[in-house]
Amino acid sequence: MAEQKRLALGVDLGGTAIKVGVVSHKGEIIGRGERPTEVQKGAAGVIANMALAAREAMDAAGVTTADLEGLGVGAPGICDAAHGTVVRAVNLNWSNVEVADLLGKELGIPAYLDNDANCAALGEQWCGAASGSHHALMITLGTGVGGGLVLDGKIYHGFRGWSGEFGHMPAVEDGPLCGCGRRGCLETVSSASAMAGAARREIEAGRAPYMAAKSAEQGGKVDARLVIYAARSGDAPAQAILREVGEHLGTAMAGLVSALNPELIVVGGGGSHAGDFVLEPMRQAIAAKAMPGPCDVVRIVAAELGNDAGLIGAASLVWR
Ligand SMILES: [Zn+2]
Repeated sequence: MAEQKRLALGVDLGGTAIKVGVVSHKGEIIGRGERPTEVQKGAAGVIANMALAAREAMDAAGVTTADLEGLGVGAPGICDAAHGTVVRAVNLNWSNVEVADLLGKELGIPAYLDNDANCAALGEQWCGAASGSHHALMITLGTGVGGGLVLDGKIYHGFRGWSGEFGHMPAVEDGPLCGCGRRGCLETVSSASAMAGAARREIEAGRAPYMAAKSAEQGGKVDARLVIYAARSGDAPAQAILREVGEHLGTAMAGLVSALNPELIVVGGGGSHAGDFVLEPMRQAIAAKAMPGPCDVVRIVAAELGNDAGLIGAASLVWR
């Protein structure tokens, strides 16, 4: 029975929650489990929670480890995929944790690991927006801006596993201070957080009455969702914020389009719910700034798998 089923576990290890899915060979999630990460318990405690979430997912799917071909983990921070190790993850307070080895032994099945953004790229490439493409870049607009490069059908890891840090490509000369210590990185002007920051400035300056009113309705909260909602409602200041985000993204990615000749750029994360308010100016900036040829063939599309991309891509590590 196990031979026909072809199942794997996908694990999405985040700073606050661990999400696990039993994933079929076609990319369907047939059972789920979720546990709090509990970073304060240290690596051993977090890995025990991963095992609990995994067992929960197996129960939900009605399978045991005997039915599974292995598991894949998508982990935050710098990862050594070849050794299944988290080299450094600031939000977990980890350095050199052999996650794949420890969790694989705990569950008694082969285990693999890669960076969470790389796993999301693999998920979209396997059965999402970049399905079937061997040359796709994925950029994620969340609290920061991350990404992954699928080149010749495989994740490109770089010399030390630091590839895909699209958020730290230079975007604005002497721009806002970035979490990495540099100024004007792409994520300071194009992350979901940056969308919210721009909206807050417009509201404070009295230039965005509609967003100010909507924000007041939710207790003064301003987030990317509010900006996107306002833009969809026809609010010009919100649309202008998203247009500028798209222009920054397009300008930064234009260099990569010329250098790498991707077939697709998949835009994911909370900020991607802005859809064409961000994607269209991004396309226009790429069309204007990337080299003719590569810029004519590349397609800029929204991600399709949402929050499941990382989990599904992590499971696919078992079969790669
Ligand atoms: Zn930076």
